[in-house]
Amino acid sequence: MASGPALFDAVLLDRDGTLIEDVPYNGDPDKVRPMPGARAALDRLRAAGLRLAVVTNQSGLARGLFGEAQLRAVHTRVEQMLGPFDAWAVCPHDDGDRCGCRKPAPGLVHAVARELGTVPSRCVLVGDIGRDMTAASAAGASGILVPTPVTRPQEVAAAPQVAPDLPAAVAEILRRQAAVDPATYGHADARPAHPPGVGGRRTGTVLVVRADSAGDVLVTGPGIRAVAAGAQRVVLLCGPRGRAAAELLPGVDEIVEHRLPWIDPAPAPVDPADIRQLTDRLAAVGADEAVVFTSFHQSPLPLALLLRLAGIRRVSAISDDYPGSLLDVRHRVPLGVPEAERALSLAAAAGFALAEHDGPALRLRPVPAPPPEAGTPGYVVLHPGSAAQARGCPPELAARIARALTAAGHRVVVTGGPDERELTARVAGDVAVDLGGRTSLAALAATVAGAGALVVGNTGPAHLAAAHRVPVVSLFAPTVPFGQWGPWRVPTVRLGDAEAPCRDTRAARCPVPGHPCLGGLEPGQVIDALRLLGVTPPARPAPRAADRTTGVPAGASTGGSGR
Ligand SMILES: [Zn+2]
Repeated sequence: MASGPALFDAVLLDRDGTLIEDVPYNGDPDKVRPMPGARAALDRLRAAGLRLAVVTNQSGLARGLFGEAQLRAVHTRVEQMLGPFDAWAVCPHDDGDRCGCRKPAPGLVHAVARELGTVPSRCVLVGDIGRDMTAASAAGASGILVPTPVTRPQEVAAAPQVAPDLPAAVAEILRRQAAVDPATYGHADARPAHPPGVGGRRTGTVLVVRADSAGDVLVTGPGIRAVAAGAQRVVLLCGPRGRAAAELLPGVDEIVEHRLPWIDPAPAPVDPADIRQLTDRLAAVGADEAVVFTSFHQSPLPLALLLRLAGIRRVSAISDDYPGSLLDVRHRVPLGVPEAERALSLAAAAGFALAEHDGPALRLRPVPAPPPEAGTPGYVVLHPGSAAQARGCPPELAARIARALTAAGHRVVVTGGPDERELTARVAGDVAVDLGGRTSLAALAATVAGAGALVVGNTGPAHLAAAHRVPVVSLFAPTVPFGQWGPWRVPTVRLGDAEAPCRDTRAARCPVPGHPCLGGLEPGQVIDALRLLGVTPPARPAPRAADRTTGVPAGASTGGSGR
């Protein structure tokens, strides 16, 4: 029995090249050949209580290469060989039809999630090409690519997660699902008391820690809410860069701000008096235990030592380094896991699960209305900057995007921090509203909440959008893995060259002349991405917009077949 809400309700599977061998335009059941290990892998998912659906482009129907009856016969054979599926979603169109369901459009994912009684963000899609991953992301679903010899290297580089074969993809789904469940770590009684205080696990005061920047604090939110569901009081230790984000997180009762010299990117020398003062402050919290959240390149151990000196008896953290007696719960996580899941898995290892009424998603405290200068909600927010230059949008490109979006009928609001006023003024020009330097983080969150979409690099505001379920066009420099740092469980289209030489360098300043991972983008790609996300200009509705905004694909067949 799982404790807390599950990460995934359903697994969506591409058909050709993923479940069965790809025989182009196959209308013949005798040519159905399952991929190696497919039946056993699917049975593992069924046994785990996950619902299964097929999402498949079958343009052979549009081209008249086979008929509905032949397609049904093929699907009957697939179910004979691979077992039953809870739903089949088929796009019968061709590219020229410009429907809302042919992958990479997200229409099939929306439709099949609804048919399964869930939402795309609680689905994971397994497929063999970039179209599958784009459809998953654009719907807000997770994606795992299982490449075949025909999968292009660029598609492999851009995928949120890659597995060598279908059984490995299934093992990864089950591993991620189990990782956020306290029962996996032997905490059978971890289900938070509901209503709180009546039975169940209820620790007193827990000190949680996330000591870096705003975006890092935001993606730790679900892990902190899990702790809050099982604690009477949560005190968050954060750094000055994360303070404003910490104030937006539900579940935090009190904030302690301190710059940790082993975490801060511009650290001052270690000052013994400062460390003594921090230790005293932590002791004064009177915490029963501590959960130290970190990024994979940060060590929790210096702080764990201070927590011991402060008298905290139980300390949990992720550490590949040997912790000796500094940690009671030493948790380990493979590379590439989404940051929010990483945090949830540490909370689970420490014995904390999200409350049943909560769910695995980013959330914020209620924010005020958007500033009036932003205009009527439905505008597109363009946030060109980033604290790390390598992860921001090149200014010249951002200015071109602002002009192109405006010309296409979108109302554009440009946002940025106090030190980015020059940048936002240049990007907004005389076509867009410039809010640069005029918003606190809470007001920025409010501005994003009123947006139809956010266009942004890999930086904090992307996570504000995820928390408000505002679709994201992610101009994602590949300096860090997209699957780990991309917007979590919100409709997203990733743009930029995922194979650029800056890949996995973790560079803060772009090491390559011309910032080519994003410099090669054209504004038209942003407009196409918005269309894929169902975000069309309010003044001039594009033809067929209704198909996209409702997510109900015209002519899509989502009924059961062969069952
Ligand atoms: Zn279609």
